[in-house]
Amino acid sequence: MTEKIARFIEERDPTTPFLVVDLDIVADRYEQMRRHLPAVEIFYAVKANPAPEIISRLMELGASFDVASPNEVDLVLRLGADPKTLSYGNTIKKQRDIVHAFERGVELFAFDSEAELEKLALAAPGSKVFCRLLVENAGARWPLARKFGCDGAMATALLAKANTIGLVPHGLAFHVGSQQCDPEQWDGAVAQAAAVFRALAQRDVELSMLNIGGGFPARYVEDVAAFGDYAGAIERAMVRHFGNHLPRTLAEPGRYLVGDAGLLQAEVVLISRKSEADAVRWVYLDIGRFGGLAETEGEAINYALRTPHDGKPAGPAILAGPTCDSVDVLYQRKGYEMPLDLAIGDRVQFLSAGAYTTTYASVGFNGFEPLPAYYI
Ligand SMILES: *Cc1c(COP(=O)(O)O)cnc(C)c1O
Repeated sequence: MTEKIARFIEERDPTTPFLVVDLDIVADRYEQMRRHLPAVEIFYAVKANPAPEIISRLMELGASFDVASPNEVDLVLRLGADPKTLSYGNTIKKQRDIVHAFERGVELFAFDSEAELEKLALAAPGSKVFCRLLVENAGARWPLARKFGCDGAMATALLAKANTIGLVPHGLAFHVGSQQCDPEQWDGAVAQAAAVFRALAQRDVELSMLNIGGGFPARYVEDVAAFGDYAGAIERAMVRHFGNHLPRTLAEPGRYLVGDAGLLQAEVVLISRKSEADAVRWVYLDIGRFGGLAETEGEAINYALRTPHDGKPAGPAILAGPTCDSVDVLYQRKGYEMPLDLAIGDRVQFLSAGAYTTTYASVGFNGFEPLPAYYI
């Protein structure tokens, strides 16, 4: 927790649950990326946390934006972004949504299928298009494989076709999976991309851009490598597979820029056992799967927790949310232990909760409000 967040909680003491995000940490992460990957253009993946405060701060620092829907396009433009700094990275778009973005000056669009490419040719003639490659997502705690991308042969054929239907075949994209804990995962994906660059060059189609996606991790329970290790692995992969013909390179970090900047404070509503002899306590909080902690699905993302009794004896616990739905359980298999002194009314803090929380909250399931958030 940063000093700024500690002071905010002490002075304001908002009712729980809430998220508080330290914008200086967002700026720090952005600068870290810039310093370690100076040649890479950073497109913030807006879906990770679309708060205007975050977008404005990143815009001031020179960021570009990866957007996925008309609302995200409008949000970023309303805050003053140049439409040329937007990349419409969603491969699944309605034709009228492509028109919406194109009419507002967006000129960079993703696709991963022939049908989507044809929509782009009709709705955004002359625009720069890039094809998403299907790549391995091994090592990712929140994989994004299978649903997105196509293989190299299809990417080659589609980008060659783009050239003949009034589009500019600009390049390729991939995503090695979110919360990617293995920096070496970029190597295979960059190799796949370089092979497509070569195959197209043989057909006289010169690609100029590679989008290396997001996937850079936040710090949850599990330790993660420093950003420098990711940057080093990516630079080595680029040189290994592209030699000294490096393309324009884009990255689309989401989680890395905002995850560690946020702290989510909850309150213990109830602690109980299912029988007198039960060693395991059920700890029910005032936030759960539907209140913004959607990434606890499958216990994939394991937030580090803080309580007022840390360091004292602890015992096994199942952590659950407050709604009347039995899937509203956060952790029951990951071996979370909670202090034995934990009591109803105690505050429980989720660290590194700035990414994929606020907009993952339901609009009011069981009457619980979406997660309030403060940006300081
Ligand atoms: C979600 C998403 C990102 C951001 O991924 P992180 O793992 O949060 O860095 C980047 N690009 C695309 C296309 C995405 O869908």
